[in-house]
Amino acid sequence: MQRKYNFYAGPAILPLEVMKKAQDELLDFNGTGLSIMEISHRSKDFGQVIDNAVARAKILLNIPDHYSILFLQGGATLQFGMIPMNLLRGGRADYINTGAWATKAIKEARLFGDVHVAASSEDKNFSYIPRDPDLSSDARYVHLTSNETIGGIQYRDFPDTGNVPLVADMSSDIFSRQLDVSQFGLIYCGAQKNMGPAGVTMVIIRDDLMQSTRDDTTTMVNYRKLAAKNSMLNTPPCFAIYIVGLVLEWLEAQGGVAAMEERNEQKAAMIYDLIDASEFYRGTADPRDRSRMNVTFRLPSEELEQKFIQESTRAGLIGLKGHRSVGGCRASIYNAMPREGVKTLVGFMKEFQDQNQ
Ligand code: PMP
Repeated sequence: MQRKYNFYAGPAILPLEVMKKAQDELLDFNGTGLSIMEISHRSKDFGQVIDNAVARAKILLNIPDHYSILFLQGGATLQFGMIPMNLLRGGRADYINTGAWATKAIKEARLFGDVHVAASSEDKNFSYIPRDPDLSSDARYVHLTSNETIGGIQYRDFPDTGNVPLVADMSSDIFSRQLDVSQFGLIYCGAQKNMGPAGVTMVIIRDDLMQSTRDDTTTMVNYRKLAAKNSMLNTPPCFAIYIVGLVLEWLEAQGGVAAMEERNEQKAAMIYDLIDASEFYRGTADPRDRSRMNVTFRLPSEELEQKFIQESTRAGLIGLKGHRSVGGCRASIYNAMPREGVKTLVGFMKEFQDQNQ
């Protein structure tokens, strides 16, 4: 079988080594004679799986001891509501609007309190990260989206929010670069880009913030109750958590987040260098803020974009169509995308340009 290069935004490419290991262990996990999909989440074997995923995340991101790591369900989308449900109700929160995902987070938060949009890049079609947010002194938290998967813009440095907890949706760039977790009150991310398969969401929450959450929520959205049960208030997505553990082990073997960051910078530069040198391709994000995970670009016409998608698909480069809400093209080049895949894409882009300009 010929594996294709997967440039989808998510669910996205996973390391081949991880899938092979999962395949090897699929029928007999850890000598149990059962699949990981068949064993109890209360078993010692699964206990080790979830503890391993937590421990690997902690090491890779250097997460301080006064933070808890949860593996939850409902995607990052549930977090859009769960965060204000736990931390906002009745109060005020600042949100920075950088695009489609931040907009969704804002919409959900408005159900629970006074949401102040402290900065927005809507004036330029969300093509840049707005600076100098107008932060409120009485905000319960400040929310931002570290990488806008659709628009292709990404924070490099995060705003200083003083004593107000910073909450970040890192769904599409977690584990792609080094991070000072102590800058944040809460970080959340769906797994299906840089961490594993769909179905599990990681939440990193500072313990004092977690302790301040309200009691009058339904149990499954209560961070404190979920943490008290090690993310196992009910049956967790066992298989997804198992794969996350394998992906994080793979990441450690690659040299960890620092090595991955360097590799990601190089991969992104290969495509941006071509775009910058070309009159044919046009990047849609402000060069200062462009994402190293999701490279968004346009061609001279929609007809050429369609042709580009068709021919790239035929060449085994899959998922280069931009999100339906913005059109154009997008190459998602998460951790598991090898340099070779990006090299192949750049070669294809050069050839397509030569033949069509
Ligand atoms: N936030 C960002 C930045 C995303 O890219 C996505 C998914 N593409 C989401 C939130 C929503 O994630 P989920 O589908 O896991 O709810």
